[in-house]
Amino acid sequence: MADAYWDAEFDTMPWDELRTWQRGQFAAFLAGLAKSSPFYAQRLDGVPVDQAGSTAVWAAVPFTTKDDLRAGQQAASTDALLGDLQGVDNGDIVQVVASSGTTGVPVFFGLTDADHQSWLDSVANMFFTAGVRRDSVVALTTGMPLVAGGMPYADAVRRIGATLVWVGGQTTARMATIMQKLKVDTLIGTASFATFFAGRCEEVLGVPADQLSVHTVIAGGEPGMGQEAMRERVRSGWGADRISEVMGLCDVMPGMWAECAEGRGMHFTAGRNVFVELVDPTTGEPVPWEFDAHGEAVYTTFTRQATAVVRFRSRDHVRVVGTDCPCGRTSPLIRCVGRTDDMLIYKAMNVFPSAIRDVVVDGFAAEIAGPLRLRKAHADQVRFDEAIPLEIELPESHSPGSTGDLGDRIETAVLERLRVRVAVEFLRRGAIPVGEYKNALTYVGQ
Ligand SMILES: [Zn+2]
Repeated sequence: MADAYWDAEFDTMPWDELRTWQRGQFAAFLAGLAKSSPFYAQRLDGVPVDQAGSTAVWAAVPFTTKDDLRAGQQAASTDALLGDLQGVDNGDIVQVVASSGTTGVPVFFGLTDADHQSWLDSVANMFFTAGVRRDSVVALTTGMPLVAGGMPYADAVRRIGATLVWVGGQTTARMATIMQKLKVDTLIGTASFATFFAGRCEEVLGVPADQLSVHTVIAGGEPGMGQEAMRERVRSGWGADRISEVMGLCDVMPGMWAECAEGRGMHFTAGRNVFVELVDPTTGEPVPWEFDAHGEAVYTTFTRQATAVVRFRSRDHVRVVGTDCPCGRTSPLIRCVGRTDDMLIYKAMNVFPSAIRDVVVDGFAAEIAGPLRLRKAHADQVRFDEAIPLEIELPESHSPGSTGDLGDRIETAVLERLRVRVAVEFLRRGAIPVGEYKNALTYVGQ
């Protein structure tokens, strides 16, 4: 069993017991933060921080949003490098990390030496849970050291003692050559990239990806890897026997969730440093961690010194898919359903684009090319009172005029499963730009 857990004590502590221990840290954490961070001094004014361990008091502690962090960083009542969010002297910061920031100004986060140690430990736990061991040879495909998936991931792989092969930032051809030469057995990348790379490997290397030695694919950074058809594409593309979905956030902790070998959902792997809550995204009310519960994940970094966050609204909508696991880890198992920002309203019902994608891919993967997307009248359209236009690419051998009843069957399946009407429109292969990988709906086929 020595090799079963990264942190046997915390990984197997009953979930309620872990929560109680975490709540026990809140009073001292908030009291310190109110003194050290001008942003939180103001934010916590009036909160009885000495009673923050009580669930009632905690539930009244204000949330922190990404916009708050951005504003807190821009406000500079001192000479702090990271604005009013910062809770330590500049000299105590040993590293700065940036949110990848697809929109707006990036937000920067600092690490003290102690923060760096806690990141190493928790992110290592994520990768260990996902299957990385001392004898693993791990290709890291992230290209940017400054983001959470860059240097922090690289550090954590080395913390486990695995062999880090940081191939990110190079051409696909070079990455493939290096992976072949060094007999890489574990690949870390986004789900889209893992699929794209598998599809390109034979073309650039002359050898299909399933003839390289990758047997574990660790994928994160976007929802989708919980979906069986997507997993199967990655598994067969690489000839892998293990797919591990992982999730973290640079604003909080770059690694917090990971799938164990059972592959039934992601465990929480950052309990020593981060408190996670589920809340109703509309009302902000706490939601209990029970089977099939869902809500927005909200995080508190109760050990963080340089740039702590309190009740941070992640916008990640997660569902509890299990509460016990044969591996012995005691945290709930979750899947990320999508971003609460992506949530649409169809006739007063909430629906995630990813849920529509999952129904289509589940039932029709063999009949469509891969990419699909919802068409909105304008970029921020959220409400739909008519059927939602759903564009789907066809395989090269098909033309939009010869699809028979496929459109009807897809529309019926979505209606039956989600009670949502979509209006399917078929497109020729290649019509949806590849650059839209991050689009919530896009399912990347071969
Ligand atoms: Zn497990």
